[in-house]
Amino acid sequence: METNESLNYKEPAPITDKENPFESMMERFDVAAELLGLERGVYEYLKTPVKQITVSIPIQMDNGEIEVFEGYRVIHNDILGPSKGGLRFAPDVNLNEVKALAAWMTWKCSVVNIPFGGAKGGVRCDPSKLTLVELEKVTRRYTANMLDIFGEDKDIPAPDMGTNEQIMAWIMDTYSMHMKRTATGVVTGKPLIIGGSLGRREATGRGVMMVTIGAMEKIKLKPKETEVVVQGFGNVGSVSAQLLQQQGCKIVGLGDVTGGYHNKKGIDVDKAIEWMKTHKVLNGFPNAEKITQSELLELDCDVLVPAAKEDQITARNAPKIKAKIIAEGANGPTTAKADPILKDKGIIVIPDILANAGGVTVSYFEWVQDRVGYFWSIDRVNRRLERMMTSAFNSVYETAEHYKVSLRIGAYILAIDKVAKTLKVRGIYA
Ligand code: NAD
Repeated sequence: METNESLNYKEPAPITDKENPFESMMERFDVAAELLGLERGVYEYLKTPVKQITVSIPIQMDNGEIEVFEGYRVIHNDILGPSKGGLRFAPDVNLNEVKALAAWMTWKCSVVNIPFGGAKGGVRCDPSKLTLVELEKVTRRYTANMLDIFGEDKDIPAPDMGTNEQIMAWIMDTYSMHMKRTATGVVTGKPLIIGGSLGRREATGRGVMMVTIGAMEKIKLKPKETEVVVQGFGNVGSVSAQLLQQQGCKIVGLGDVTGGYHNKKGIDVDKAIEWMKTHKVLNGFPNAEKITQSELLELDCDVLVPAAKEDQITARNAPKIKAKIIAEGANGPTTAKADPILKDKGIIVIPDILANAGGVTVSYFEWVQDRVGYFWSIDRVNRRLERMMTSAFNSVYETAEHYKVSLRIGAYILAIDKVAKTLKVRGIYA
């Protein structure tokens, strides 16, 4: 039986305390809302998702039996434009998590100043245990259930954990079949051949690299003197590590679901990427000592890039973190309770809604290119990404300085303020 190898890794039990993701998001939202003096009605409006959809996805499996999966799509807010957000296939995904991720997308799009609202989707399944045929059926049936929700001008999915370019192609095709036209702009993160963008695959990691270098400049850390640890060696982690190494940084630790890998003298990231092509996981990678997940996060280094999953830096391990800068490649890798501990230690945390916004920025470029029907060179994509990430980083930095808060709260203030002002100008339809 052929299973979907590219999605084939085992999720271990969480290594750290898990917080309710929506509450975790709301704790930061509340601080920013208070500093902004947000009026009660606007607060309620921005807190409440516009739509929450739960669907059942019955599939006839290869063995002939029927299995029913649960799927979700949450549109948190669409005041800035069509809602945008990834689709996650994972065995433990639930409505609460999708709600938090959807809200994060609203703030993320607002921080980088792109004309999208926030959404997120999920299907409760283990993609590594489905055959390709079953995976395609799950994707197409989920899409069929969402025909009224998705649309180039309405709601535009993209890949997230457990989904990839192929799944985006199936969504685009299913939607197009029903609309009786080829609707390339209905998803982003598609294969190039059907209207994907050059640079999209690397965009999130490239954005992480750009803002990390920006933060390093603020504390006068030169790349040649900078030691970096990256947790997660998938799309975001591997590209962040590779590009930071190309900037001159020394990568002293890498990690994935199988554990941490440490070499004080530096790890050759290109070799690790090569290793992954045949082994799928870092386990067994030579020239690095195997350590635990906790040891990896607590390594002596200048920059830590958590790029695996949420709730990795918590009140429990935050006091032991030695990095000077944390660049959040993953969504929600730091719990709300860890924030003040990191702030007291003087650690600069580049928050997820800024650090990993390169992905949605190039998704926006992809959507623009699909709609105009004219495709850009890689240089143009990367130049524009750099311009937007640098501008967002500077705006967040200035806002944080102005309000004397962390970059995270600065980013929330900037994002919420823009959405709230847009709401004021548009007014409430009734
Ligand atoms: P991915 O599936 O390509 O890679 C995930 C990596 O994390 C793998 O190396 C996996 O082995 C590792 N991992 C999984 N569970 C782990 C655990 N418990 N401990 C340690 N490592 C673990 O996923 P990705 O696309 O790189 O996404 C990673 C994170 O970045 C997610 O939080 C995702 O929401 C976020 N993100 C991704 C994008 C994007 O464009 N792909 C954009 C923005 C944010």
